[in-house]
Amino acid sequence: MNAPLQIYNSYSRQKETFTPLHEGRVGMYVCGPTVYSDVHLGNCRTFVSFDVIYRYLLFLGYKVRYVRNITDVGHLEGDADTGAEDKISKKARLEQLEPMEVVQKYTNGFHEMMHIFNTLPPSIEPRATGHIIEQIEMVQKILDNGYAYIENGSVYFDTLKFAEGSDVYGKLSGRVIEDLISESRDNLKNQGEKRHPADFAIWIKADASHIMRWNSPWSVGFPGWHLECSAMSTKYLGETFDIHGGGNDLKFPHHENEIAQNYGACSCQPAQYWLHANMLLMNGRKMSKSDGNTITPFQLFTGESEHISKGYSPMVVRFFMLQSHYRSTLDLTDTALLAAEKGYKRLMEAWNILQELSGGATGSLTTDLEKEVQESMAAVHEEMSDDFNTAKVLARLFELVPKINSLKAGHLSMSEISADTLAELKLTFQSFIFDIFGLKDETTGAASDNNNIIDHLMQLIIEMRADARSRKDWATSDKIRDALAEAHIQLKDSKEGTDWKIG
Ligand code: AMP
Ligand code: ZN
Repeated sequence: MNAPLQIYNSYSRQKETFTPLHEGRVGMYVCGPTVYSDVHLGNCRTFVSFDVIYRYLLFLGYKVRYVRNITDVGHLEGDADTGAEDKISKKARLEQLEPMEVVQKYTNGFHEMMHIFNTLPPSIEPRATGHIIEQIEMVQKILDNGYAYIENGSVYFDTLKFAEGSDVYGKLSGRVIEDLISESRDNLKNQGEKRHPADFAIWIKADASHIMRWNSPWSVGFPGWHLECSAMSTKYLGETFDIHGGGNDLKFPHHENEIAQNYGACSCQPAQYWLHANMLLMNGRKMSKSDGNTITPFQLFTGESEHISKGYSPMVVRFFMLQSHYRSTLDLTDTALLAAEKGYKRLMEAWNILQELSGGATGSLTTDLEKEVQESMAAVHEEMSDDFNTAKVLARLFELVPKINSLKAGHLSMSEISADTLAELKLTFQSFIFDIFGLKDETTGAASDNNNIIDHLMQLIIEMRADARSRKDWATSDKIRDALAEAHIQLKDSKEGTDWKIG
């Protein structure tokens, strides 16, 4: 039924037919978040993209082992590998917390956000700090194979030696070793310890201020950021596995160096297919905290941001993300979100109408409607198999919407479609909207019932507080406000009355 799955491989820079190493099984590793701050919308876009890819592989019948790590040590500021502070250590020092408190807090927040966006949990979610032994073993292997050297307690990958021995280094990111030399020459403090500016640390000796540290044969220190992904992917998926994913910005240095390390340790390419999701922009510019061009997921849901005119539900945001291909940049604008909200509602309405349709002709038909519906359904599968083109799948589903509406309104007769095709159409909508795209219907049923109930309860609480205030019963009114604040519900008084919001 399906066209064979084509995947764009960033490593070969072309679409390739997907053939897993072991028939019927797929091993997929995706670089997870560095848990030192709240997950931002850009991160969410990447994780939603890989969630859809994971869901589609499951839909195709593969048994998928999906590994997505938590980076809780070794990711230094500015993606440096020496001479900069560890992001988590720094946060712990600034907030006077244990590093693991920082890690737990932001891991919890990340999980909550992934749940809100209805992403499936990975099969394994390994933490870097839980795999120090594996990382030390890998450093030792790389040393034993002659691709690393020890300098003052730190261990560096010998990039030049690796680059001279094969044409692998720089292939993924398209960088030339000479460019790497000049780029890295100026901006590395501890350059003195490296034999070559393009070398990178795989074990870093901890200085006195560094709170996260482990014993190793070389020094009390901590592993390099790139090394954790090499060690954890090898542990759970083997030396070579099917898919490695992450955001575009990880191609260099992170993924380039991962590949080098895997070659250094076991002389093999870790992944058959490298997939990279493109960046999220806002109003045409890179989303960035430093110039205020940023919005948090909660601000997006509540509408509390100068960049948007109103709040958008998590499913509208997910739908918005699906409207572009994962390899294209995605520009977040209020106009695009408003359009996505309309599109999402239209799709859900069509789904609800479709469920009510019944009947259809028995046997095979040759009507135009029958033919067009069959063609659009086939196209839905083909577009998804063409490098997970969710944008085109949505366009194909929308081709079917007017037909569904016409069948409901009686402009098209149920005798023009066969019962089998109608059943197939229902299955296609259900599979793509819910199982593969991971959308939830917020427009009817339990979701909107729940929202109505919550609204009623909040109105009751707001009235009780207003009554207390009119009696000058400040104790009760404060108690209500404080209890709501604890549940992250804020009340906002204005001339028109009292409103509430989450956040
Ligand atoms: P980090 O927590 O910075 O290690 O990033 C976690 C994931 O989010 C990585 O796969 C990044 O490539 C991805 N990512 C970071 N910023 C963006 C962005 N603006 N748009 C899309 N993905 C991003
Ligand atoms: Zn990684």
